[in-house]
Amino acid sequence: MKRFIYADNAATTKLDIDAFEAMKPYLLDEYGNASQPYSFARQPKKALKEARTIIAKCINASPGEIYFTSGGTESDNWAIKGITFNNVKAQIITSQIEHHAILNSCKVAEMIGFPVTYLSVTRQGVVEPAELESVITNATKLVSVMYANNEIGSIQPIKELCDIAHKNGVLFHTDAVQAVGHIHIDVKELGVNLLSASAHKFNGPKGVGFLYIKNGTPIQPYANGGSQESSLRAGTENIASIIGMAVALKKNCEQINKMSRHLTNLEAELLHLLKAYNVPFIRNGADNHLAGNISLSFPGKDGEAIMHILDLHGICVSTGAACDSVNTEVSHVLQAIGLQEKYAKGTIRVSLGRNNTSEEVQHIANSLRQIEYDL
Ligand code: PLP
Repeated sequence: MKRFIYADNAATTKLDIDAFEAMKPYLLDEYGNASQPYSFARQPKKALKEARTIIAKCINASPGEIYFTSGGTESDNWAIKGITFNNVKAQIITSQIEHHAILNSCKVAEMIGFPVTYLSVTRQGVVEPAELESVITNATKLVSVMYANNEIGSIQPIKELCDIAHKNGVLFHTDAVQAVGHIHIDVKELGVNLLSASAHKFNGPKGVGFLYIKNGTPIQPYANGGSQESSLRAGTENIASIIGMAVALKKNCEQINKMSRHLTNLEAELLHLLKAYNVPFIRNGADNHLAGNISLSFPGKDGEAIMHILDLHGICVSTGAACDSVNTEVSHVLQAIGLQEKYAKGTIRVSLGRNNTSEEVQHIANSLRQIEYDL
């Protein structure tokens, strides 16, 4: 059988088996609508409540502060639009390296007259608190900075940025889609008003996520309709997926330290092997980064070509040089960190997950060594 190595865990992760098993009854047997008053709806309603409590506990929130959504994109759209559209001419401050769910939501806000300021980042891909301090004005209503970058893994100084926003009476949102389930998150300690998460990034099912909304945060509903999610996000709840998300998050949170050590070791092994093989490369991102998120630039090479050859070797990685499969421009993140074109165009992202092994990492390193000679 052809070897298959999945090393694109920042794109999505394999569904946890316990999460899958927990979901099954709610797809096949307990399919009642949690909003109904009869006894058949009792179990789904109870499970929904339990899932909310489990998820809240994982990030030190209250259950009433967890709002289920269809994933990271919806949570990000809701945070940006739900806060901004509540205010007249509100200014938004975000960073140049956000995911497109934030950047394109900001674009919509800009189109209808809400000014947006985009914070620059250092060469390591980190927002500088002093810059936020210098651009915040009386018109600023929301600051949104991601917790950890999906392309290069850099972790942002969220608490510091949040403190600056609050000092100026401004709400703070963080897109923590890459961080939740991988890094200890305590919303009370961070002080954020809003936080986005997506289940499929932490071994939960796809198409489900949540937005943490701190009690008392003034926000407009995302979807109008029924009274689900305290009438802020109408629509019959995706019970099975919500339950799968809760099981997956709890499991990941219980093994965060172990998982992080495992990924840090694999990452060190990959970098060590590439150096030992004399493969010329640089690694992008900050020292403080998501374990296992490895953005590598091979000078003078073509990242797209490397990705396709690795695919032929049975290895899934993604290219850091393209915004998406049709756009071959250097990505906005690599541009924002000022990466020279000869490096930027030769960039791939290897993102390791809890199922990857040392043997797989050795195979990836070997393939990259071969490609270095072939390309
Ligand atoms: N934000 C970040 C940082 C992401 O990495 C992603 C997905 O790649 C999203 C938002 C979108 O999440 P979803 O795929 O759940 O819509």
